[in-house]
Amino acid sequence: MTMSLPAFDYREPETLDEAARMLDEIGPTAVVLAGGTDLVPSMKRRQITPGTVVSLAALDILRGIRIGDDGTVAVGAGTLLSELERSSVVPSALAVAAGAVASPQIRNVATVGGNLCLDTRCNYIDMPELWREASGPCLKEGGDVCWVAPRSDRCWAICSSDLAPAAIALDASVHLVSSRGERSIPVADLWTGDGSDHLTKDPGEILTELRIPPAPGRRATYHKLRRRQSIDFPLLGVAASLTIRESGAIGDVRIVFGAVAPAPLRATDAELLVEGGTLSPDSIDEAARVAARIVRPLDNTDLGSRYRKWMASVLVSRALHELAESS
Ligand SMILES: Cc1cc2nc3c(=O)[nH]c(=O)nc-3n(C[C@H](O)[C@H](O)[C@H](O)COP(=O)(O)OP(=O)(O)OC[C@H]3O[C@@H](n4cnc5c(N)ncnc54)[C@H](O)[C@@H]3O)c2cc1C
Repeated sequence: MTMSLPAFDYREPETLDEAARMLDEIGPTAVVLAGGTDLVPSMKRRQITPGTVVSLAALDILRGIRIGDDGTVAVGAGTLLSELERSSVVPSALAVAAGAVASPQIRNVATVGGNLCLDTRCNYIDMPELWREASGPCLKEGGDVCWVAPRSDRCWAICSSDLAPAAIALDASVHLVSSRGERSIPVADLWTGDGSDHLTKDPGEILTELRIPPAPGRRATYHKLRRRQSIDFPLLGVAASLTIRESGAIGDVRIVFGAVAPAPLRATDAELLVEGGTLSPDSIDEAARVAARIVRPLDNTDLGSRYRKWMASVLVSRALHELAESS
């Protein structure tokens, strides 16, 4: 079994314009490289074999965290997760999510942009090339069957980004730049919902910034389920946010699940249940039960799907209790 990298051309543009132009000129055989903590192992497993790797390493403009005049926190896509984790200016839920990614060594290399654009994962596609050859290609590899849900015409590989649910709960947006122009979209609109072609962004678009709008009084948190606290990908993530109005009533509720589907999922029924009410042990139990209804994990990652579904209500309950008690 080979774990060496396949051959590829390496380019290291010095400006964002040059990078965007390069991606446009080379087309779909080019891929963006940030920290490489996900891309490089995927290339070694031959899940992806790009003709050209366009590194963002020289683009200092993508690094750092700034606060705008209106209080928006702008996190450059090239900012390391270890920096985000330690930042005192980003909402703590985002710092907690960053600190829950992988291990300290990986967080010292991995970037915010790479985390949000992270490829989807699945027990089948993440197997070595030889194993996959023996079983035959799945939908994500260009085959015509999903080995996890064989009757489905859709790929169910999972969006395992820890930052994604937290960013959605914080109502954040991402800024995208290509040779054709630039645009900002809500983070929630970054995923298609299909694990195979999982991002709505064009392959030529570079994610340059994560922007978190100011929200005075907002409380937010992120909880994660994984087998080993020291390193593993999420098997379930829950981000929750809300504000408590002067009247004591709850507003602006967001409950977002990660790592159970090809895109982060918002538990809108549970959000409506909590909105306008107060947080009591009973109302939290009910919200947690309703939230977990939309979670239908498949057996395509570690730990059983029934356990992960049960843990969905447990983590929502923990998150809402934490928000009820925080000030
Ligand atoms: C052992 C291990 C454990 C891990 N655990 C976790 C975990 O717990 N949680 C988690 O979320 N992740 C985890 N990861 C995955 C990965 O390390 C992180 O998601 C990391 O943040 C990816 O960032 P990167 O800069 O290394 O991205 P890269 O590997 O460089 O890129 C990842 C993808 O994003 C694209 N990309 C990168 N930057 C941009 C950009 N600016 N614009 C457009 N596209 C871009 C690349 O083309 C590629 O498709 C783990 C990885 C390993 C090896």
